[in-house]
Formats: sequence, structure tokens, C-alpha cells
Amino acid sequence: GARPRRAVTRAQAPPDVADAAVCDAVTLDALRPLGNSGKPRVVVLGSGWGAMTFLKDLKPGAYEVVVVSPRNYFLYTPLLPASATGAVEDRSIVEPVRKQFASKGFAYVQAKALHIDPKKRTVSCSAGSSAGGAGCEFELEYDYLVNAVGSVPNTFGTPGVEENAIFFKEVTHAVELRQRVLLALERASLPGTSVETARELLTFTIVGGGPTGVELAGELYDLLREDVAKEYPKDLMELVKVVIVELQDHILSMYDRKISEYATDQFKRRSAGKNFEVKLNSLVKAVEPNRLIIADKVTGEESAIPFGACVWSTGIKMHPLCEELKQTLCDDDPESCPANIRSLATDKSLRVKGTAAGGRIFALGDCATVERPLALEAAKRLFCGGKSDEQCSAFLDKEQLLEVLTAGAKDFPHLGEIANAIDKEWDGIRGDQEKVGFQAFTQMLERADNNLRAFPATAQVAKQEGQHLASVFNSSAADPQSMATDPNLARFDYNDKGSLAYIGADNAVMDIAGVGQLKGFAVGYLWRGFETISQISLRNAVLVAGDWVYAKLFGRCTSRLLDVDVVPIKEDVGEPLETVSAK
Ligand SMILES: Cc1cc2nc3c(=O)[nH]c(=O)nc-3n(C[C@H](O)[C@H](O)[C@H](O)COP(=O)(O)OP(=O)(O)OC[C@H]3O[C@@H](n4cnc5c(N)ncnc54)[C@H](O)[C@@H]3O)c2cc1C
Repeated sequence: GARPRRAVTRAQAPPDVADAAVCDAVTLDALRPLGNSGKPRVVVLGSGWGAMTFLKDLKPGAYEVVVVSPRNYFLYTPLLPASATGAVEDRSIVEPVRKQFASKGFAYVQAKALHIDPKKRTVSCSAGSSAGGAGCEFELEYDYLVNAVGSVPNTFGTPGVEENAIFFKEVTHAVELRQRVLLALERASLPGTSVETARELLTFTIVGGGPTGVELAGELYDLLREDVAKEYPKDLMELVKVVIVELQDHILSMYDRKISEYATDQFKRRSAGKNFEVKLNSLVKAVEPNRLIIADKVTGEESAIPFGACVWSTGIKMHPLCEELKQTLCDDDPESCPANIRSLATDKSLRVKGTAAGGRIFALGDCATVERPLALEAAKRLFCGGKSDEQCSAFLDKEQLLEVLTAGAKDFPHLGEIANAIDKEWDGIRGDQEKVGFQAFTQMLERADNNLRAFPATAQVAKQEGQHLASVFNSSAADPQSMATDPNLARFDYNDKGSLAYIGADNAVMDIAGVGQLKGFAVGYLWRGFETISQISLRNAVLVAGDWVYAKLFGRCTSRLLDVDVVPIKEDVGEPLETVSAK
């Protein structure tokens, strides 16, 4: 049940914010009455995929809900590459959090969570100056905490990334990139700009050949082909180049190899490879103000790529808030702390592990690694299906094995994958025997368990987790305490619906389990349709659809609205641009 409390307590400032001013209760007046509601308080951290899906599906009434996030809007991340080139507008892919749940009576505070104290059940927050106020610290008590703060970009310790590259996670990054690209195009078109400088300004490097990097390259290609080629001096297209730099020997490594090869081939073929380059096996050693230093992974040979803009999209790492919480929980209860996981460990019901968490902290999205039950531990039960040893068949034929796997998939979803592919798997499972005995069965389970991977850090996973958690909260409204204590709390199962990525020129690639790989124009239009109907609100769907129609009919808007020089002005020496066409 709810504990009696003041809504906002004066902060016992944690050590890292000891100097910060404590928020005057008056500043947070909006929160004051909440503590008197008598309902259990749920504090939700974040306004991204996990948090917003949870809040959207959570029924009003049973809980007192306070949302804390430094971002007062939801961002539809899959269309961030499209917004960086103006194919869709940034305001079309964001939705104000207040618009989403004002009618539900949930409270929102624009603040950052700095520190979670699981034993005291408090979150220390900073209402930073970005909210317009002076900036102060406050502390919130919770009965249940939903942690969905996501992840942060990983630089892998590469020097110069933070100073000289643009991360690609937030709207501000897309806006900055759009400004830089448009500025580079205008600068390169200035009379007197040398070919050498123009070439450098018009080289756009993308570090990381995952879906984000590839989609961004595709969108940049569309901008160049559909708008720049028509509106800017013809010579510019000779100099423009989009370069993807990838450490592995292929891009889109999480997709089937055929898709990766198709995408690479498409990039190479476009404009006969003149405007595109995919640099594989390349390790970025440093990002300097206007150039990348890369080393060939095989030969170790170093080279430089001068650029006008560099985007860093190589992957993610744990959010510092979660790192600190993980440390606290691990110090307190080392057994709850599996090694080698990239985020907060949760049980199968999304409860953060660790005695101190008390079953009251939930994590979802990029910041959670959900425990996946291992089938091997239940081998005997599965094999015999509840029958006594005498009744238990010593060997299973294909049909019987399929039955066992289908029944087992209820507790161990990964067995369902073997069941679906039983015809393909059968020979490998039975080896040189006619039927499958207990030993071969356990070997099969062991292989299946070893192949279990953490759910990927995607919007699809975060969304399904948010939906699942909301249904748990809704169904536990009469007895919320059970969410912390029930060992059989509903388990989260991930339903992988496949992956889609746009690669430019109206082409997309798609990898769907059980269906296979699809690619080409039709998939490109499917992608557009999917990204439109998947928006968080009807308002966003209408805006996105409108933007796409607008861009096709009238082209992208290449106006530089923010007239800020973001590219450092360099001393320009060399051949003027006009001479390039003569070459
Ligand atoms: C450019 C791009 C394209 C992508 N495309 C796809 C795609 O096509 N398909 C797909 O499935 N996935 C895609 N992803 C991945 C997907 O966006 C993430 O996996 C997903 O956003 C994770 O959801 P989340 O709720 O964990 O975190 P996020 O959506 O990142 O939300 C985190 C929230 O926490 C807030 N926050 C941060 N720090 C604090 C703090 N200290 N206190 C309180 N709040 C805080 C943030 O402001 C934000 O609101 C893409 C990601 C990017 C960057």
C-alpha cells in the first residue's frame, strides 16, 4: 500500500549534487497534492519508447503517477534519419508528453534523475536550467519505480568524438546535421571556394554501418539526388560524397548476409560509386576537427578522410544512472548480479534483480536485460511431460518431439523456434539414431540455451515491454503489493516481428523470421506505410504522411533557418570551384 508522505521532500542531496540548490517546494507546487492521494506512487523515468508505451496503456485511477524526464516529448527515433534531411519535419515525429496523458491526471516534471536510492525508495532529481528555472535538486519517494532512461552513445574511448562528431540519437542531433549539410552546400557553392575545400565540405562521413548509419546514408542520397542535383550548381554533385565507415567486413551485420550484400551493392552502384563509399574493416582511431583518422583492420595502415560533417552511430552503452544503480545493487547482493550484461538485470517479469530493489524497481527498453529462462534446468519435466519414469517414453520420434517442444515453448519461448523449424532441425537433433533419447534431448536444450541472446536494444522490444508492464500494473491495481512479491508475476515474452531498414532511392530491406528476406521498391513503400501507421498518435501519422507527399511533390526544404556558422571557417587556399567541370 501507499506510504504517507509529503509529495516532494527536501532533498538529502546525494554526494554528486551536494552543492546544488535544493528546490523550494513552491517551485514544485504542481506536485504537492500528489502525496495526499493515498494511492501507491509510481515514478516513471523517461519519455521514450518504453516509458511512453507504458504510460499510454496504463489505466488512470489506481496509481499516483509522476513522470520525470529531461525531454518533454516522445521522439519517434526510426524517422530521425529522414528528419535530418528534411524528408519529414522534426515536429512531425515528436509528441508532447503532456498531450498524451493530460487527461489521465499523470504529473510530469521536466527534470533529470541523478541518483536512485533503492533502500530509501527515493529518486534524486535535477530540475536543470533547461526547464527555464534556476536549476535545483529535489527528491521523490516512490512505491514503484519504472526506469526507462534508455542508453547513451558509445564512443569506445575514441579521441575527439564528443568534440568533432555529431551523435545521432536526439532531435537536436538531426537538426544540427541538417544545418551542417545545408551550410556545407552553400559554402561549397560560394564564388572563390576551392575544389579542395568544396570536396572536403561535401564529404559526409557516417561512422557505423548499422541500421541507423545505413538509413542516414540512404536519406542523404535522396537529398542529393532529388534536391541538391536540381537546385545547386551542377559541379557540386561531382564533389559530394557520403562515406560509411564500418569496423566489420559488412554493413547491417544484424541482418541476413544477403541483405547486407544487397545494400552494399546498391550503394556502390548508385552514381557509379562516385557519390558513395562503404569503407569496411576500418577502425576509427580519432576524429579530428575536420577529418577522420582510420586504420585498416587487416593491414593496420592508417589514412585520413577529410569531412564537412561526421556522424557517430556506432552503438550504445549503459546510462550512467543505471550503471550507478547496478553497482549499488551488486555491492549489496552480488548473487543477483550476472557478469557481462550491458544494462540492468531484470527477472523475466522486468523486475530489477537485487535484494535492495525489493521487487519495486522495474526496468525496460535499452536499459534492461531481461532474464530468459533456461530450458535445460527443466529437461526431465519437458522430456517426460509430467509422466512417471515408467511411463516416460525413452525415445521420441519427430511427431512426439514436436509435441514436447510445442508444450515446452509456453515456459521457454526459444523452444518454439526449434518447433517451427523441426523438419530442418530433426537430423541434427537425432544424430545417427532413429529417434531422440534423453541424452540427445538435453544436448539439444543446451545448444538452444547457449544460443539465447539478450533482446536487442530496439524500439520494438521497448514498446512490447512497456505494453506488458502496463498490463501487469493494470491487473495488479487491486493488490499492487503482489507486483513486488509474486514469484509468478506475468512473464514478458518478446514477439520478434522482424526488421525493416530504408536504404535510399525508395528501396528498403526487410528480414522477417519465418518469411525470409525481401528487398526493393515495394518494400520501400511498405516501409513508408509502416512508419506512418506506427506513429504514437494520429496527429503524428497525419503530419508524417503529409511531409512525405510534400517532399515528393515539391522537394525537401533546403532553407537554412538557423543562420549559425557551425563549421569552423578555414583559411581557403587552392583552385576555385569553377575549374572543376573542366577536369
Ligand atoms: C536514429 C535511431 C533510429 C532507430 N531506429 C529504430 C528502428 O527503426 N526500429 C527499432 O526497433 N529501433 C530503432 N532504434 C532504437 C530505439 O530507438 C531504441 O531502442 C529505443 O528508443 C529504446 O527505448 P527506451 O525507452 O529504452 O529509450 P529511449 O527511447 O531512448 O528513451 C529514453 C528516455 O529517457 C530520458 N532520460 C534520459 N536520461 C534521463 C534521466 N537521467 N532521468 C530521466 N529521464 C532520462 C530521455 O530523455 C528519453 O525520454 C533507433 C534508434 C535511433 C537512435
